[in-house]
Amino acid sequence: MLEFTTAQISMGQTAVDKSAALQLLAGHLVRDGLVAEGYLAGLQAREAQGSTFLGQGIAIPHGTPQTRDLVHVTGVRLMQFPEGVDWGDGQRVFLAIAIAARSDEHLLLLQQLTRALGDADMAEALSRADSAEAVLHLLQGAPRELLLDERTLGLGVPADDFDDLLWQGARLLRRVECVDGDFAGRLQQVDPLSLGDGLWWLHSEQAVRQPGLAFVTPQQPLRHQGQPINGLFCLASQGEAHQAVLERLCGLLVEGRGQELLRAGNVRTVLGMLGGAVPTDWPSARIALANPHGLHARPAKILAQLAKEFDGEVRVQVVDGNAPAVSVKSLSKLLSLGARRGQVLEFSVEPRIAEALPALLAAVESGLGEEVEALPAVTQVAIDTPAPLTTQVKPADGSTLQGIAAAPGIASGPAHVHLLQTFDYPLRGESPALERQRLQDALARVRAEIDGLIQRSQATAIREIFITHLEMLADPGLGDEVELRLRQGESAPAAWLAVIDAAARQQEALQDALLAERAADLRDVGRRVLAQLCGISETPEPDQPYVLVMAEVGPSDVARLDPTRVAGILTARGGATAHSAIVARALGIPAVVGAGDAVLLIAPGTALLLDGQRGRVTVAPAADQLEKALAEREQREERLRAAHASRHEPAITRDGHGVEVFANIGESSGIDKVVEQGAEGVGLLRTELIFMAHPQLPDEATQEAEYRRVLDGLGGRPLVVRTPDVGGDKPLPYWPIDKEENPFLGVRGIRLTLQRPQVMESQLRALLRAADERPLRIMFPMVGQVEEWRQARQMVERLRGEIPVADLQVGIMIEVPSAALLAPVLAAEVDFFSVGTNDLTQYTLAIDRGHPSLSAQADGLHPAVLNLIDMTVRAAHAHGKWVGVCGELAGDPQAVPILVGLEVDELSVAPRGIAEVKAQVRALSIEQARILARQALSLGSAGEVRALVETL
Ligand code: PEP
Ligand code: MG
Repeated sequence: MLEFTTAQISMGQTAVDKSAALQLLAGHLVRDGLVAEGYLAGLQAREAQGSTFLGQGIAIPHGTPQTRDLVHVTGVRLMQFPEGVDWGDGQRVFLAIAIAARSDEHLLLLQQLTRALGDADMAEALSRADSAEAVLHLLQGAPRELLLDERTLGLGVPADDFDDLLWQGARLLRRVECVDGDFAGRLQQVDPLSLGDGLWWLHSEQAVRQPGLAFVTPQQPLRHQGQPINGLFCLASQGEAHQAVLERLCGLLVEGRGQELLRAGNVRTVLGMLGGAVPTDWPSARIALANPHGLHARPAKILAQLAKEFDGEVRVQVVDGNAPAVSVKSLSKLLSLGARRGQVLEFSVEPRIAEALPALLAAVESGLGEEVEALPAVTQVAIDTPAPLTTQVKPADGSTLQGIAAAPGIASGPAHVHLLQTFDYPLRGESPALERQRLQDALARVRAEIDGLIQRSQATAIREIFITHLEMLADPGLGDEVELRLRQGESAPAAWLAVIDAAARQQEALQDALLAERAADLRDVGRRVLAQLCGISETPEPDQPYVLVMAEVGPSDVARLDPTRVAGILTARGGATAHSAIVARALGIPAVVGAGDAVLLIAPGTALLLDGQRGRVTVAPAADQLEKALAEREQREERLRAAHASRHEPAITRDGHGVEVFANIGESSGIDKVVEQGAEGVGLLRTELIFMAHPQLPDEATQEAEYRRVLDGLGGRPLVVRTPDVGGDKPLPYWPIDKEENPFLGVRGIRLTLQRPQVMESQLRALLRAADERPLRIMFPMVGQVEEWRQARQMVERLRGEIPVADLQVGIMIEVPSAALLAPVLAAEVDFFSVGTNDLTQYTLAIDRGHPSLSAQADGLHPAVLNLIDMTVRAAHAHGKWVGVCGELAGDPQAVPILVGLEVDELSVAPRGIAEVKAQVRALSIEQARILARQALSLGSAGEVRALVETL
């Protein structure tokens, strides 16, 4: 990116006139190798077309499209003319910035310059500057715009106390990149200022990237220093940027309207009161910018002049841009948008000057004084990026594709291929009446479609989702806004998408898990309508149970699957340990994942045969092949029936070696069923899932009741509880975590809980209280350092002094390679280990477990992972401690013999896998399994290990 540096600046230059100045500048650009000789002619031609004087003593001479080829390297050179140079029209230039640019990169420079242009005394300061540093400072140091829009507002956020609320405010500012990660910490060091009416104010200049103001109100009443907290302003302060908003706020408070702010209830009204973003009732319209070099100085000047003709406020924003709406009357602010060709501008005007909108649109459409080549007639909006399919070959009939075994079982049925759509549509409509009719027709078709889905859905939860979708379609608020846009000439799809998008963003900005889900629903139903409007029909679901084929199945997609209709799942991407695959297993739907993008080319309705155990899919299988597979399915079902019959018997190998088989669970309800499925205990209670099921942090009593319910249901069988593993791919909506480049390598698991010790303490207390005489095991996720474990253990020991328990063991999960390598040290201190193979594999092989294409290779049977498990078991046994495996590997039929051979003491699997794992152990001999495991340790790949197991 182009940036100003002191090396580019030549101080103290003189030129008798503009032409001499251009010569100097061109000479400098040539000397520094940025352009070829001849560029001067381009600079002169450009000035002849129109002055490049920008304002405040600054000009930005640059070449024409014809001289672009003379540019070797994009760059700038600056010259200070302390005495000034006459730039025509009575304008004097004290700083000339010569631009050599082949593309539109200089727009970014202009964005930076707009800060300087806002400063009234700039020209004089530039003429007096005595060093390149001083010039640079002047260009960069002027105040930046305060960011205050719906993204920095959080109304009714869950918060337990003042600090929580502060975190939420800081988090909003972090998300819009106003502040760095430690801003919250800085705010905590500041004394909050009470503004009255329960409103509080905090600000800091530390860790600020750009000025921004967040306003958060708590969901439930809070108190601080004996006073109510109804709302908190968090200011990322930089210069005077907040002055105007602060004055407005003080005005509101002086007028006694603080309560009004709190009662407003929706972000738009609050923003209107604070003067942040465009009030909701302002008419607005969108248009795509066609100017070849974007909204640069010349067209921007014309636009600003036009806006000034109207006696009221006119604002513009780049749709999908990050910046808030700016005044069209300000040239510098217009330039600060950095709008490029093809980007869509949204103009909003005060209602009393609604006639400004068509004038602005017409001006932009005609090119703002420039010749413009019209944009393609349609705008292409890809709702989610579809897979690049062009290089893929459609799988032939009879061919077998190898993917990853994600959920066992054999499934057959027609393919229901669910592809993400690309929508093409014009931004401007033919006439409001016609567009209105189109929309109404589309809505009617979608209603009928959803009605059909409701009729066919057998699962109540899924039916309810569709009922909600119908309600959303009927929302009068959406209808009104769409109507407004249609009247302003937008096409039905453009108006519909704009309104859905804005409503969804508004929901997402509220940082509330439930509302965020609603936003996903809104986008979902919005997509259906858009598809109808664009004449793209979704492939109807086959009548018989089908194999769902998708690029990737996200956790929310899985939650919507109706197991009575979906016989199997086949995905192009994803791996077996992604959380969505775990959910598929829990639903008992056979699944093959990561089979490659070619599966998306399978014609809808093609018969598929899916083997979730071997990770294979056959396209249009021959009759005998299908028959054989179905016979195998019958055998498997027979085997499962037998396993089920002996599910309560222990898992002891033929030669007398016992292995405990426990269950992995994520909720307290249904524990009776888990025991009924043969569980000898719970080997992993993922407590973050319990936390996620609550809209806010469950208090101690609520948690105690949850844990007590599990222990009661287990009737004396052990319960292994994991403290929350939040972070990575499992964020907790009400637990703010700063945005991270690599969340899996970031503040996750125990790293996070140690940062919030009060949360961990309250969970531990709830657990100890719930235990009574029952066997309770507590373990910590993601331990990678011995200190983490010691700190956590110390906390347990301290609390144990307060709340005695009869049968408690404390251990750690082995999920990070460093923990496995440190096992000999840790084994002396812990009571047990439980190997989380999902993460251990991810971190050992350096493959993100949810990576769309690589996670297929994240196979826990990789010898590198097996060697780490082997080290862990040997270290533990040397100290008389036990080892469990609770990752997905424990339930993988090909892994069971190896894990038993490595002498793992406990396998903890999804409840529906318990009977099968037990039956498998019973069929083994420990002697043979040991030999098999030793052989596996010396192999080179997971594939070789799987092949070895097949020989058993
Ligand atoms: C694991 O990593 O193997 C594990 C059991 O934890 P989770 O899948 O919840 O990260
Ligand atoms: Mg894990």
